[in-house]
Amino acid sequence: MLTQCLACGSPSLIHDVQVPDQDHSIAPGPLMLRKDGSPKAFLFKDKRTTPILAIVCRDCGYAHFFAANPAKLDITSPESEFDATQAWRCETCGEINSNTFGVCANCQAPNPNPPAPGDRGWL
Ligand SMILES: [Zn+2]
Ligand SMILES: [Zn+2]
Repeated sequence: MLTQCLACGSPSLIHDVQVPDQDHSIAPGPLMLRKDGSPKAFLFKDKRTTPILAIVCRDCGYAHFFAANPAKLDITSPESEFDATQAWRCETCGEINSNTFGVCANCQAPNPNPPAPGDRGWL
């Protein structure tokens, strides 16, 4: 963790300063960093997000920005908010589909383990 200001060297740092996203007037939240594991996917982009936090120097005001949870943005890591038990990957095109889909949302290839009609979540 940062112990002194990168600009002036002061140890007087204010930690955990939030960075609100002013564009979301209806539901204000933190400014987010986002990386998509499957940016070309039609539906399930395997979206990884984490809030930005700032550490501000009390003396010179220099703001140091950090990802709250940088590991979440690592698309090479299996960790994801995406629940693999709730989805299947299309063997034809690689699209990640909800397991409520009988066919791939991208290429219409059949789900190798199609949901039984009447399952909860069947659309
Ligand atoms: Zn400073
Ligand atoms: Zn497909």
